[in-house]
Formats: sequence, structure tokens, C-alpha cells
Amino acid sequence: MTAGNNEHRQIGRRAGAQFGGDRFGRREGRGALFRPSGERVGGVWHHNTYPGAACDIPSHLYEFSFEPNPRWSRRFAPQVEIQAYLEDVARRHGVLDRIHTGTEVQRASWDDERNRWILETSAGTHEAEILVTACGQLSVPSVPPLPGLESFAGPSFHTARWRHDVDLTGKRVAVVGTGCSAIQVVPAIQPTVEHVDVYQRSPGWTFPKMDFAYRERTKRLFGRYPALQRLDRAITFAFMELGAAAMTSQRWMRRPFRAIARRQINQAIEDPGLRRKVTPADEIGCKRVMLTDDWYPALTEPNVDLVTDRIEAVTPAGIRTADGTERPADVLVLATGFASHGFTAPMEIVGSGGRTLAEEWAGVPRAYLGVSVPRFPNMFLLYGPNTNGGTGSVIYTIEAAVQHVIGALGELERADARRIELRRQTADAFDHELRAALSGTVWHTGCTNWYVDENGNDPSQWPWLWSTYRRRAAQIEPGVYEVGAPEPAPDRAS
Ligand SMILES: Cc1cc2nc3c(=O)[nH]c(=O)nc-3n(C[C@H](O)[C@H](O)[C@H](O)COP(=O)(O)OP(=O)(O)OC[C@H]3O[C@@H](n4cnc5c(N)ncnc54)[C@H](O)[C@@H]3O)c2cc1C
Repeated sequence: MTAGNNEHRQIGRRAGAQFGGDRFGRREGRGALFRPSGERVGGVWHHNTYPGAACDIPSHLYEFSFEPNPRWSRRFAPQVEIQAYLEDVARRHGVLDRIHTGTEVQRASWDDERNRWILETSAGTHEAEILVTACGQLSVPSVPPLPGLESFAGPSFHTARWRHDVDLTGKRVAVVGTGCSAIQVVPAIQPTVEHVDVYQRSPGWTFPKMDFAYRERTKRLFGRYPALQRLDRAITFAFMELGAAAMTSQRWMRRPFRAIARRQINQAIEDPGLRRKVTPADEIGCKRVMLTDDWYPALTEPNVDLVTDRIEAVTPAGIRTADGTERPADVLVLATGFASHGFTAPMEIVGSGGRTLAEEWAGVPRAYLGVSVPRFPNMFLLYGPNTNGGTGSVIYTIEAAVQHVIGALGELERADARRIELRRQTADAFDHELRAALSGTVWHTGCTNWYVDENGNDPSQWPWLWSTYRRRAAQIEPGVYEVGAPEPAPDRAS
């Protein structure tokens, strides 16, 4: 998480066992969901081991450009393979030895005098010249405040904290949520459980995933002719860019996407009642479009019920909905997504002049290209604010952001300086441009989604193409950063 001239104190001590929290990963006392540090590298792929967990972007795009993997078993690789790939890349590039796993950074503060970041971690203090946060947007489980949740008598857990010790065979399972995790979990567990009740708040559009296993011969061809794999990646990228255009600027392109999505429902489901329940009223893309081939077929199985009545309470024996029906459950699975707007939270970050990142953001996280924030010198965010999209590979985006960080560090080196900081004017101009573009995107057409908060602010989405992100991040435009001398401190009272 940090780079630079390291002074380690105790930090090498493994601290994994101390991370507790309740059964959903929540911890008392910090007023926030517990944000764990991983015991292994892999991030979400280390934490999300639920049945059916897999990529929803073709793997030839969801991989590092410098480490193409011709051996993916499927077009959309399962979690186990992605985790193994990430660990393998880290090992081969000598990164594993430099990572302190099981160590949470709780506070990072900038020392104006010494031009250094001081990190307080669960394993001691650490200093660095450069701070790069890579906390992810989807690493803190979101647990809805369902009345009676704690009273449930059986095992209950979030999809990102899957209890592999709980055998679901022959059990009645309640799955709360119908988002990206649920649509993978339900088809995976349906054949073994006695019954699944799936609780839906609002449906999302889906799109055929067209997943398939690669034949040995195809994998050999990819290995022997890397250009083939690059071609596949380029075609996938082009298709994703079409999706990005449809979500952001080219409204007319949503119509064919919607027609395909509707056809997928109609082909899989005959029952008009069920069709109605799963068909969203909002624009395609407003909520994240979910890629799946087996979600609707699973819902038509006799041991699956889609419940659309509002959950009134969780009881010791099951779930009661607003119509008064109580459905029994042996196991409760929360497929309720993540608290995605914290970015670096619950870590506290204190920048130049003692101003915290939370104060700087004042409820709406924002950063130039999702990477830099004024008054936070020598700090860079990866997968930061407004670098998410409805389509595309986050790995691609992170690589582009890393290029930006390298460029910025190059500026620092060339100037033989010790401090680089985003200019306030750059931040304001970019933010203005970004908000204007966001207002015309599909994400602001009135649905509830995890991008836009209850006040209509959108700290999540990138409103242009991904090639635009790469192009803009690749260069450090003149005057964007102040290198060397700090700008005068802002008026704290304003
Ligand atoms: C189930 C699931 C499936 C997904 N599928 C796709 C997909 O198919 N395609 C796609 O493009 N994206 C997908 N995503 C999005 C995913 O978040 C990104 O692709 C990618 O994992 C982001 O990588 P990251 O390293 O930025 O963050 P993460 O993978 O979230 O890793 C962040 C790590 O930092 C740790 N951390 C956080 N705060 C601290 C702290 N203070 N101290 C120490 N450690 C800390 C976290 O515990 C975590 O281990 C998926 C997300 C989920 C949850």
C-alpha cells in the first residue's frame, strides 16, 4: 500500500488473527463497517469465495496487460483461478515479499515539515515518502439494517464472508438481494438445497454472458500465438466501449441492448407473473447490467421462489414480509453488496495543514482522474472516485491510473523535489467537467443504484469512454501538479 523510503517498526509481524467483527464482518466502536486487510493478496477475489463467484468481464480483459494468461479455463474465469493468477503474478514480480498481509492501516497523516506520510497500522508505525491507497471500492460488506437480523437462529453471513463450514445440502436458504453476487450464488446452490427464497427489492437488467469453457487446443493456440489473445482482448474491449458509449452519451444505443435483455427474460421464463417480477422499469444500464446465462433458468426451478414483498423483519426462524407471510429458513445469506462510497474509509487520512480527507470531500469523494486530491501531497488513489463504470475491466482502469502515478513520480524525480501536489484549480476544473458529463449519463435517470447517493451525488462513475481515461491518465498535463513548494494553506473556516 505504500512505497518509498520505508522505516519499519514491528510491521513485519503478521496480525491476521486479530481481525474480528461480528458474523457479517462489522466491528463495534468505529461507527463503520469493518474494513479488513487481507490475509492474502487478491482483494475481492480473496474475500469473495461464495459458490459461483466468477468474473463478469471476459478474462482476457480482466487480466494485467503485461501478464496475459492463455490458460484461463473459461471465458469468464471462476474466482479460484483469478485468485491464483493474482498471487502468481505477485509472486513472479517479487511483490509478495514486500506486502504486509493481515495489516490494517488505520491512520495516515502527512508531515509537512518532513514531507512524509506517517502510517499507524495494526502492526505498528510506518513511514513513507509516497502513499498509494488501493483500498478498492467493493471491499466493505454492506449489511442492511433489517429489523431482527441478529435474532436469526441459524447461520447467517454476507456473500463476501461465505461460511464454507455450513453445509447447505437439503437446507432452506434465504438469499437477500438480487444483484451481481446473488445472480451467481443462487444458480450455484439451487441444485443442492431443499429450497431457496430469493428476496428482491428491485430487479436489474441482465445480458447474456455467453460463457464457455476453453478447449485445450484453444488455450494452446493462445499460448503459442499471443497476438490471438491480444486480438480477443481488443475485440472485448471494443464491445465494452460500445456499452460505455451507450451508458454515457449515445442514448440510442441502449435500445438494442434493452431488446436483447428483454428477449433473454422472455426466452427463459414462461410464467408472466415471474417475467413481470424480474423485468425492470428503469433504463438499461441505470443499475449495473448483470451478465448471466443461468439466473432466470434458476428462478424457474421448483425449489426457488422470488419474493418481491418488502422484508418487514428477520425472525429467529426465517423472514417475515410486509404482507405478513413468514417464510422459514435454516440459513440466511446476505447478497447485499458493498459500502462503496468510503473509498479509503474507515482509514483516517490527514493531509497538509491537518485537514482530513473526509473534511476535504465533505460527503462527496472527488479526485482528479480518481487519483489526486489537493492538499494531500505525495498521495495517489487507485480505483478512486469516479473511476467505476457500467462496463469495462477495473484492472484496465487501475493500470491506467498506475501509469499516471508513475508519470507524477517522474515529475518529482526530474525536479529533484520531495513533494508533489495537485493544484486546486486543476481539481475544480476537472470536477466541474466531470459533474457536467455525469448529468447526461444513464446512471442519473432516476433508478436506485450503488453509484448515486441519496442526495444525487455520484462519487463512483466515469462518464466517458475507458480509452479516454487511459489517454488522459497517461500524460501529466503541464501545470496540473505543483512540484516542490507547497501552495498556501486554505482557510480552514471556509
Ligand atoms: C464479487 C466481485 C466480483 C467482481 N467482479 C469484477 C469483474 O468481473 N470485473 C471487474 O472489472 N471488476 C469486478 N469487481 C470489482 C473489483 O472491486 C475490482 O475488479 C478489483 O478487485 C479492484 O481491485 P483493488 O485492488 O482496487 O481493490 P480490492 O480488490 O477491493 O482490494 C482492496 C484490498 O485492500 C484492503 N484494504 C482496504 N482498506 C485497507 C486498509 N486501511 N489497510 C489495509 N488493507 C486495506 C481490502 O481488505 C482488500 O483486501 C468485482 C468485485 C466483487 C466484489
